[in-house]
Amino acid sequence: MKKALIALVALIFCGSATAQLKPRPDAFPPVSENNNTKAINMAETPAEMANWDRYPTYGTYVAMMQQWATDFPTLCRLDTIGSSYQGRLILSMEITANPSDTTLREFFYSSTIHGDEVTGYVMMLRLIDTLLRGYGNNPQYTDLMNTTLICINPLANPDGTYHSGDNSIRRATRYNANNVDLNRNYPNPFAPAKATLQQENIYMIDYFDRHNFRLSANLHGGAEVMNYPWDSYTSLQNPHPDRVWWEDVCRRFVDTSRTYNASHFNDTYSCGYTAGGDWYVITGGRQDYVNYYYNCLELTMEISTNKTLSSDQLPTYWNFLQHSFVNYIAEIHSLPGDTIPTPEPPDTIPDTNLTIRTINSSPITVYPNPATSTLRLSAPTTVQIDIYDCQGRKRQTLPAGTTAVDVSAMPAGIYILRYNGRCTKFAVKR
Ligand SMILES: [Zn+2]
Repeated sequence: MKKALIALVALIFCGSATAQLKPRPDAFPPVSENNNTKAINMAETPAEMANWDRYPTYGTYVAMMQQWATDFPTLCRLDTIGSSYQGRLILSMEITANPSDTTLREFFYSSTIHGDEVTGYVMMLRLIDTLLRGYGNNPQYTDLMNTTLICINPLANPDGTYHSGDNSIRRATRYNANNVDLNRNYPNPFAPAKATLQQENIYMIDYFDRHNFRLSANLHGGAEVMNYPWDSYTSLQNPHPDRVWWEDVCRRFVDTSRTYNASHFNDTYSCGYTAGGDWYVITGGRQDYVNYYYNCLELTMEISTNKTLSSDQLPTYWNFLQHSFVNYIAEIHSLPGDTIPTPEPPDTIPDTNLTIRTINSSPITVYPNPATSTLRLSAPTTVQIDIYDCQGRKRQTLPAGTTAVDVSAMPAGIYILRYNGRCTKFAVKR
C-alpha cells in the first residue's frame, strides 16, 4: 500500500520542486546486497570479457585499457588520472580521431565513484570498445569522434570495487580505502568543507584542471533516475539556470532507453528524472562541484536499481542504455550557452542578454596565470570579489574596483575568484 501511495505521489509530483519521495540510496550507507546469492562471474583475462557478461578482475581491467590503446593508437590515448590509496590506477581513455585539433569539445564520462555501483563500470568499458570499433563504420560514432574529445573513466573508486582483492567484486563497498564516501567529499560551493579531501578526488580535480570539459556525467546505481543539478538545494530554493535544458536532455535519455525497455527509469519518478535536491539534498557531491566551479555541465545517472547486477544481466542493460549513452555525448554540440541572442545595437542590449548563463561564465580574465606575485584583472569589477581555495574555503574578500590581487603570500595551488555569481579560476605558482 505504501508502495502504491509512493508511486501515486511520484506520478503527481514528477519533476516538481516539492516532491520528496523515498530516501535516496546515495544518501545513506548502502542497503546490504547479498552478492553471494548472485551470479557474479569474473573475467580473469580480456578474452573472457568477449560476451560482456562478466566483471573484469582489476588486472583484466587494466589490460583491457592498455590493449585498446595499443590496438587503436590513432583513435585513443590512455591517461592516468591518478591512483588510489591502495595504489590502484584511476584511468581515463581519451578518444578522438583528431587529437591535434585544439577546438574539439571535451566530454567526460566517469563511473563507480561508489565502488559497489558497478553497472556503469562495465557499461563504460563496453562504450569504449563500441566507439573504437565503430569508427569508420557507424556514421554517428565517426562524426562524434571527429568533432569531440571523449574521455571515459570507467572506475573512479577502484579500492571500493576491489575491496576484497583484485580478483573479485563480491565484497565491493561504496567507500574508498579510508572508509570515506567520495561523492560526499568534494568541496561544496554552498557550504564549508566537511572532511579532508581524499586522494582520489584530488587527482580527479587535477584532471578537470587539465581539461576543458563542457559536459559530463557521473554514473551510479541503486536507482534508475536521471539526477540533474543542484544536489545542494531543492529547485524551489535555487533552480539551476539551465534547468529547462537539463530536463530536455534527461527526457531524451530516458525516452531512448524506454524504447528498449518501457519500464526502465521508473523506480523513483515516473518521468525518470529529477533535480537532485528535489529527490534528496546532499552536499559534497561531484556534480555540484563541477557545475559550479568549472564551465562544465554534469549530471548524475543512476542507471540500475541493483547496485551490483548479476553479471549475466549486464548485456541486457547495455541494450537498454547504449544509444542513450552515445546520444548524451552528442548533446555537447548543443549546449545551452551555444544559443547566441540576436545581435542588437550595443547600447540597447540589456545587461542580462550579455551573459546567458549566470553561473560559470567568466567575462573577466586574469593574467598572468599562473601568477607568482600579482594577479591582474582584465577589467575592474563593480562588486566585491571573493577568493576561494580549491577546498572551497574563502581566503580573501577584495573591494569593488579591484584590478590587481597580491598573491605573494598565497600557497601554490588552484583558486577561484568569485564575484556576482561568476567564477574565474587561476593558479598560484611558487
Ligand atoms: Zn552512488
